[in-house]
Amino acid sequence: MATVVVSVKAGHDAAVVQAELVARGLWVERLEAGGRVQFVVEPHSQAVTREALLGIAGVEAAFAGKPAHPRMDAQAGRAVVVAGVAVGGGAAPPVVMAGPCSVESEAHIAATAARLAAAGVRFLRGGAFKPRTSPYAFQGHGERALGWLRVAADAHGLAVVTEVMSAEAGPLVAAHADLLQVGSRNMQNYALLAAVARLGRPVLLKRGMSATVEEWLLAGEYLLVGGAPAVILCERGVRGFDPSTRNVLDLGAVALLSHVHGLPVVVDPSHAVGRRDLVPALARAALAAGAAGLMVETHDDAGHALSDGPQALTPHEMQTLMDGLVKEVHRG
Ligand code: PEP
Ligand code: MN
Repeated sequence: MATVVVSVKAGHDAAVVQAELVARGLWVERLEAGGRVQFVVEPHSQAVTREALLGIAGVEAAFAGKPAHPRMDAQAGRAVVVAGVAVGGGAAPPVVMAGPCSVESEAHIAATAARLAAAGVRFLRGGAFKPRTSPYAFQGHGERALGWLRVAADAHGLAVVTEVMSAEAGPLVAAHADLLQVGSRNMQNYALLAAVARLGRPVLLKRGMSATVEEWLLAGEYLLVGGAPAVILCERGVRGFDPSTRNVLDLGAVALLSHVHGLPVVVDPSHAVGRRDLVPALARAALAAGAAGLMVETHDDAGHALSDGPQALTPHEMQTLMDGLVKEVHRG
C-alpha cells in the first residue's frame, strides 16, 4: 500500500494547502526539508484522486511514495493456499488450526488429530522444537515429534503447522510441515527469517510480543524477499502492563490488517489470554474483527500437559467452539 506524497509550490502557504487536504477527509503528516513542505497522505485516507489533489491551489505534485513492504502489500485480497486449504482472501471460511502446545507422544498426537479432524479443524499444530522462556522447561521432542505429527495429520487429511526455531533445523521441519511457523520470540531474528524463506514454504509469522504492526509487516517482507511464497500473519497478544491475562490480544491490529491491508491474519487466543475459560470468547471476537482463522491449543489432560496446560481447551470444549463457529458462519 503506497503512500501518496503531495508537495507544495514555493511561495505558497503550506498551512492553506494542509487545510484543503484535511477538508477532503485526508490524514496528512507534514514534512519539511530544504525550505520545501511536503505532506504524506496516510494510505487509508486516500479516497481522493491524483487529479483532484493536483487541482488544489498551491499543490505542485502528487506522487506515490516508495512503499515500505511492497511484497506484503501485493498479497492484499488474495487467499494463501496451503496444502489445498485457502486462508484469507475474503470468501474463504475461517480456517482453524489446533493441537497441543508440544507434541508429547506418538499416541497422544494421533488421538488428538482424530478428534480435531472430526470437529472440523484443518491444520494440526504442535511444537517439536519449543521456544521456552526457561532453559529448564521441556524443550520439545525434536525430530521424533515431527514424524509423529506428520503421520497423525496424514491419517486424517490435516495440514501440518509447526515452528522452526533455528536455521539448521529448517530443512528437517520443512520435510514434515506444510506451513512453517516463526514464533513470537523470533519475529525479528532476521537471519532465521532469511533461512526460513529459503525453504520455499508458506510461513505463519507470529507477531513479536512487543512488535509494532509496521515491524511485523517488514518481517513478513523479509520472508517474501527471501523466497517464501506467502505469509500468513498470526496475532498472539502483545505485552501489556496488566498481568491479569497472559498478554493483550490486539484486535485493533487484526481489524487493521484484515480490513485495511487486506492481509490474512490468524488469531491465537490461547497465548493471548493464557486461560482456557476465556479462549472461546476471544476466538469469536477475533473472527468478528476480521481474522481469517484461528490457532487454538488443545489438550485432553491439561493438568499433565508438558507445556501451556492452563490455556489448552479440552477436545470437548474445542468441539463446542467449532460447532458454534459453524453455526455463526451459516447464520452470517
Ligand atoms: C506456539 O505457538 O507454540 C508458541 C510458542 O507461540 P508464541 O511464539 O506465540 O509464543
Ligand atoms: Mn504454547
